[in-house]
Amino acid sequence: MKKDKRAAIIAGNWKMNKTASEAKELICDLLPLVKDAGCTVIIGVPFTDIAVAVELTKGSNVHVAAQNCHFEDHGAFTGEISPRMLTEAGVEYVILGHSERRQYFAETDETVNKRARAALAAGLKTIICVGESLQQREDGVTESFVGAQVEAALAGMTAEDLKNVVIAYEPIWAIGTGKTATNEQAAEVCEFIRKVVAKLYCEEVAEALTIQYGGSMNAGNAEGLLSMEDIDGGLIGGASLKPNDFAAIVAAASK
Ligand code: PEP
Repeated sequence: MKKDKRAAIIAGNWKMNKTASEAKELICDLLPLVKDAGCTVIIGVPFTDIAVAVELTKGSNVHVAAQNCHFEDHGAFTGEISPRMLTEAGVEYVILGHSERRQYFAETDETVNKRARAALAAGLKTIICVGESLQQREDGVTESFVGAQVEAALAGMTAEDLKNVVIAYEPIWAIGTGKTATNEQAAEVCEFIRKVVAKLYCEEVAEALTIQYGGSMNAGNAEGLLSMEDIDGGLIGGASLKPNDFAAIVAAASK
C-alpha cells in the first residue's frame, strides 16, 4: 500500500493548556479553517475540555482525543480516567505513552501497552507515542530503542487491533524545542517502525498503518515532512494551539 492509500491524520496535542472557555474559543476559530480538510483532523484536549470539545465538534470533521487513560475499567485509582469514561463522553481517540507522561509520570512500556489494550477493548482508537532521547540518538541506539518501544507497546494486540492504532514517532529532543528532525531523519525512523510492524505482523498490516511524526512540526516545515513516503501525518503540540498554524498543517497534509 502506498502513502496515498493510508489515512493521513493530523492530531493536535494541547497538553495542559486551555480552560473550557478558552477551548471553546479555539475550537470555534479552528472549525471553519479545517472544514474542507482532506485528512483526518483530531484535537487532543485536557479532560476538562472534553465535554465542550465533543459538543462543539458534533457534526463537524474534527474528532476529539483524550491525552491519557487508565487500563482498569473503574476502581480505586485516584485521579485517573477509564477508557469507558472517555467513550461515554464521546471521545474517539486517546494519545498514549507521550514522552512527557513517560518522563514525568513514570509511564513505562508495560503501562503504555496495558493502557492501549484497554483503550482498544473499550472501542477507542489509540495514538501511541514512541521516540528516542538526544543521548540515545547520539549513542546510535535510536533504532534498537524505538523498535523495542514499538514491540512492547503492541504486545498482545491482534492485526485487527492494529486497524485502530496510530504510531507517532516523536524524538524527545524535538518536542517543544523548536528543533525539528530533518525530513530524512524523521522518515528514516518512520520507515524503520513500519519494518518492525511488518516483522511483528505482516507487510499488509504494516503498509496500512498510519505513522505520524511529532516534534516541533509547524506551518513552515509540515509540507516537507508530510511529503515523505513513510510519514502519514503529524502529532502537533505548540502549533495546535494556534488555529491558523494548525490549519496550515492540516492543509499541507491534505495535498
Ligand atoms: C507533542 O506534544 O507531541 C509535540 C510534538 O509538541 P511540539 O509540536 O510542541 O514539539
